[in-house]
This record gives sequence, structure tokens and C-alpha cells, in this order.
Amino acid sequence: MISEEEARRKMLGAIQPLPTRRVSISSALDSFAAADVAARLPLPTFDNSAMDGYAVVASSCKKGERLRVTGEQSAGPDRRLRVSPDEAVRTFTGAPVPRGADAIVMQEDVTRDGDEIVINTNVEAGEFVRRRGCDLAEGQKILGKGERIGPAVIALLASQGFAEVRIGGEAKAAILATGDELVKPGRKLEPGQIYESNSALLNALLQRCGAIVKSEEHCRDERESLIEAIKRGIENNVLIISGGVSVGEHDLVKDALHELGAQIDIWRVAIKPGKPFVFGQLNECAVFGLPGNPVSAFVTFLQFVRPAILKMMGATNLDPPQLPARLTVDLTNDSDRAHYIRGRLEHGKFAPVGRQESHALFGLSQSNALLRLALGQSLKADEIVDVQIWDS
Ligand code: AMP
Ligand code: MG
Repeated sequence: MISEEEARRKMLGAIQPLPTRRVSISSALDSFAAADVAARLPLPTFDNSAMDGYAVVASSCKKGERLRVTGEQSAGPDRRLRVSPDEAVRTFTGAPVPRGADAIVMQEDVTRDGDEIVINTNVEAGEFVRRRGCDLAEGQKILGKGERIGPAVIALLASQGFAEVRIGGEAKAAILATGDELVKPGRKLEPGQIYESNSALLNALLQRCGAIVKSEEHCRDERESLIEAIKRGIENNVLIISGGVSVGEHDLVKDALHELGAQIDIWRVAIKPGKPFVFGQLNECAVFGLPGNPVSAFVTFLQFVRPAILKMMGATNLDPPQLPARLTVDLTNDSDRAHYIRGRLEHGKFAPVGRQESHALFGLSQSNALLRLALGQSLKADEIVDVQIWDS
């Protein structure tokens, strides 16, 4: 049995980022930038009006002043108009500010009188003018290599005229659930059988971290069919096998992987739940064997599979999202492994929920955060702790 830290270090050492690709910005949501991106335009790109109103020379705009309206500039092609001290140009939001003008008077603050306006307010230079480059300078970094691309970053790329962006590789994954007792949802359950829920869990978790699920298979605890199913699964970048990684006579996964020539880097990690975790490499595929108990599969996915997939996809930050929380109860870990407590984080407080056992799927479904208790660690109620979150 190795420590969680050593297991993560070994596993991540074996994972390489996948080849990068160029995609349209609309396909880039939640992927990771493959290179730094710099602004090629300032934002705003030119001085423009923040209001519907009149472009003026501020120093000539005392309250009660009359100005002649000499033209109109709407948002669109720059008509290259010019404004002199006793003049105004009708302008609209987003319109280029005419030369000579240094302020926009809102239309609500003037009285229109034929070809003239009367100014009803004092005007300061710069008022309602959105200056070129005041938001973003040309050449400024707008996206860092390995950063996640969210909706606002996609909009920023579009505002710079980028139709495409280079992102990290696409991680293709296969799921293989093993167990003679398992029946696919939708079918009839016989005595002794249970519904197979880990494929659904893993599929959802894979989607959450941006991987593409290529196949979902169920296989009996039988050597030959397991070997054949593994051969199909390793056509992908990642194969996640659920169940059959423990020490019983029906736990055949490790032997099947050995038989196929896999390099097993990790077996058994000091983590609760999730001890009988396997990580190995077979051909070009990263193979994860997760314990069959649903909570163990969940916890080992978040601690090991997720960072591996993020690294493949070119992410820089592989850590789980964390938030500080006030603990509601005393907790002690007197087991021989790091313990992940399932709980609910609400209004800044973390409270354990449900049964803290590896089969307790209902309790897991009620939780939204995990608290890691290190070996021998004791925490007191009201302490501030960091918890990992997955549903915010
Ligand atoms: P195993 O890791 O194969 O020894 O399985 C451990 C426990 O998890 C057993 O109670 C199994 O019935 C259960 N289990 C294994 N695979 C699944 C699955 N795909 N869905 C739900 N429960 C499972
Ligand atoms: Mg089993």
C-alpha cells in the first residue's frame, strides 16, 4: 500500500498531455488553452460613445449654452465628422466619437430645438466617452497556457477577431464495469442481482471533466471475456474498469492486465474509501481500476482519474476546487488511511451526511463536498477547514 501523495505523483508522472488541436471558439468551452494568447486589438478598439446623445467640446458646454447640430454619427462606419466648440454631433451608443469632441451629453440632458440643442447640465471632459484601450491594451495577455476557457473568455477571443483557438487534446475514455451480480438499468432484477450504477456515475464524472466517453461495457467476472473487453477498451486514451480489483477469487482485473502485458504502476493506496485502486499502462492507454463500491469509485475518480484527464487535456491546475468551511462536528481519523468524509457545504458550513461507508450511494447523492482527514488527524467543531466541492 502506498500513500495517496506518492500514488498521485507516480500516476501523473506517467501521464502525458495529448496532441493539441485548433477548434472554432464555439467548440472550445471548458477546454484548456494550448498556448498563451495576447490581445491583438485594444478594447475598446476606438473612442466611442457610451450613450445616445451629442458629441461636444466640454469646455464650451456651460448650462444653458446653445450648440448647432452639424451631423449624425451612428454605431457603424466612421463618417470622420468633426466638432468645433459651438457645435454638436448627434451620436448613439457604440458610435465613433467625432474628431474634436471630448465628451458626450446624454440626450436626456439637452433640449432639441430644430438644428440646435440647449445644454441643460454642466459637462466634463471625458464624460460618456469609452476610451480606446481603457479596458484592455494591445499585446496584453488575455489567456494563459493551460487555463480553462469559459464563456467570458470565449467572448473576449471573439472580440479580438479570433475565430479559432488552439486547445489541449481530447481525452477519449472507455468504461468497463465488471461483476456477475450486475444488471443494466431497465432490465429485470433477479434475486441476488443489483443494478449496475458505476457506469452511469463514471460517465457523468467523465463528462464533467471534459472527456469523451467512447464506450460503456459490462463484463462478467470471467477471465476470457475480461481480457477481450480490456483489449477493446485500451483503444482509447483512458480505460476505467470498475470492480474486480480487490483480493477475492473473483477479482480478476489485475491478473488480466498482467496477462495482457500491462505495466502496473500502482496497486492499493492508503485512502478510505478506495484502497484497492489500480493504475497501469497498456499500449498507449492509461488504465484505472477503481473499486466497485460506488463511493470508492467516486472518491478515487476525483482524486486520481480527474487530475490525469485534466493533464491529458492540457490543464495547468489539476487540483480539485476547494472552499473554506466551518466544521459543524468533531472528527477524528484513527484508521490507517486518509479518510474522505462526505458532507454538505452550505452557507459556509460543512456537515457530514449519510452513512460514511463505501457502499452508501444515497448519502453520497446528498453530499456536495468532501473533507480529507489525514492519518491521525483530529478536528474540532467550529474549526475552519478546506473542503473539496464538485456541485456548487
Ligand atoms: P468489487 O470491487 O467487484 O469487489 O465490488 C465491491 C462492491 O461494489 C460489491 O458490493 C459490488 O456488488 C459493488 N459493485 C461493483 N460494481 C458495481 C457497479 N458497477 N455498480 C454498482 N455496484 C457495484
Ligand atoms: Mg466484483
